[in-house]
Amino acid sequence: MPTAAPALFNLPAPRGPARPAKPMTVLSYGLGADSTAILLMFLEDPVRYGLEPDLSDLIVLHAVTGDEWPDSLSYVNRLVLPRLAERRVRVVQVARRGRHDADGVLVLEDSRTTSRIHQAGPWRLSDWLLTGGTVPQMASGRRTCSIKFKGWCLDHWALAEFGQATFRRVIGYHAAERSRMEKDTKIQDRLNQRAGRVICEPAYPLVDAGMDRAAVEAYVLQRLGEPIKKSYCTFCPFSGVCASRERHEERLRAHPDLAADALAMEYASMALNEPMSLYGTRSLYQQLTEDERNDGVLTAFEERLDAVPFSLYEVRRLYLPGRTKDCRRYHGARCARPRWWCRTERTTACRRDHASYETGADGEQVDLEPQCAGVTDGCRGSQVKGAAWRSVRTVWEGPRLEAKFTLLSWGREDGARLRRGERSQIKRLHYLDRGEGYPAAEAYLVAAPSGADDKNRESFERRWTEITGLIGTRWEPIRPLARYQRGRGSRVVPVVRPSGVAHVRALEVA
Ligand code: SF4
Ligand SMILES: [Zn+2]
Ligand SMILES: [Zn+2]
Repeated sequence: MPTAAPALFNLPAPRGPARPAKPMTVLSYGLGADSTAILLMFLEDPVRYGLEPDLSDLIVLHAVTGDEWPDSLSYVNRLVLPRLAERRVRVVQVARRGRHDADGVLVLEDSRTTSRIHQAGPWRLSDWLLTGGTVPQMASGRRTCSIKFKGWCLDHWALAEFGQATFRRVIGYHAAERSRMEKDTKIQDRLNQRAGRVICEPAYPLVDAGMDRAAVEAYVLQRLGEPIKKSYCTFCPFSGVCASRERHEERLRAHPDLAADALAMEYASMALNEPMSLYGTRSLYQQLTEDERNDGVLTAFEERLDAVPFSLYEVRRLYLPGRTKDCRRYHGARCARPRWWCRTERTTACRRDHASYETGADGEQVDLEPQCAGVTDGCRGSQVKGAAWRSVRTVWEGPRLEAKFTLLSWGREDGARLRRGERSQIKRLHYLDRGEGYPAAEAYLVAAPSGADDKNRESFERRWTEITGLIGTRWEPIRPLARYQRGRGSRVVPVVRPSGVAHVRALEVA
């Protein structure tokens, strides 16, 4: 019986349907207890968390804001990175490359033997805040600083790295942060839906393990032998992100230089806009004065103010009327020819007495655009608050003491009124006081540390003249406005990696 000749070569096995590649796992590493605990769990038992035994499918991704506490950096450099390097875990560090989105994302390091977390990239969060003359803020319930300096870098890097491939995104929410986790999942679902594909699958190992903050800290302490401190920007004002007041002030006392930086940032912000202190209704400065152990920090701050250059800023502000619901409903995205009710809410009485509608074929009543002329008493309700526009122009530069005297002497010459800010106690020379309602305008001169950019939007001067009858600034600016091209290349974001530049499409904020 003939037998088959032995095969000379091993033939490739016939191919079945292609299996989808296993998604890579990306851990957003914020340097804090939560993500450090997850890393240690992964190192201890990779397979249990769906990783390859050699951790080749794990990427630890860190966004460098440039304003992290040095002791947090040191902790990770000494105790965490050697463990990652030993197992050859890939660590990627990214940062913003410049002030504009079009400047892109810079990969500061992409290595399997990382020995340090970079202290700063080319454009730090504090650069953005100081040039803007402001402090970290919330918008629509979200922290803009974190979106701009963390989420934005991470998302664009991921797009450059993975393209259309799905990845697993591990986030360090702990068991007591279920609501944050749910919010995050919802946002990701929305992004996936919008993209028409699964961009990434979020994973929350600490929530799964039922570990709350205390359990996480104990776990890290037990593994690394040193208590881990919260990781956040030195000037972070947000409770939940920042440490407790007691621990935060203790840290500021240990780093008087960084405390002076934070206080100087707050001072400049409040000088340009009184309510803009770090803590909404209170300032960091006020808070620190309540404990005499902080005297050293406050002295460091005073010395800082004496040492840095000062500017006299002329600040002009326009408070514009907003659009009513009716205006948006009947006039769409833009209102070219506003009527009185476009800016002023109609009262309930007006809605009831002066309703206009037509009856459709099916007998249903359809509201029509309001016809009321608003002349009847009781038709016009309150005005709607719109955007506030700000113009900041530097009109003088020099040392702090001279700035103070110059402000006083200019006040005498020009007959303006000198007043102190209610909370900040900063002196301002007001030459135009804000009136009632909208539009309204105000203007003053104030001394603050140099560094805030001169800026106002292009149409500011036109609106300023329309509303106040004044032309330009009262004092001569010492430099012309730098006009940055608006929306320059904003549809494409370059991601500069050691392997080359990838140009990815700009992602919308979720
Ligand atoms: S730590 Fe605070 S200041 Fe820094 S990015 Fe996060 S929220 Fe903003
Ligand atoms: Zn309108
Ligand atoms: Zn009416």
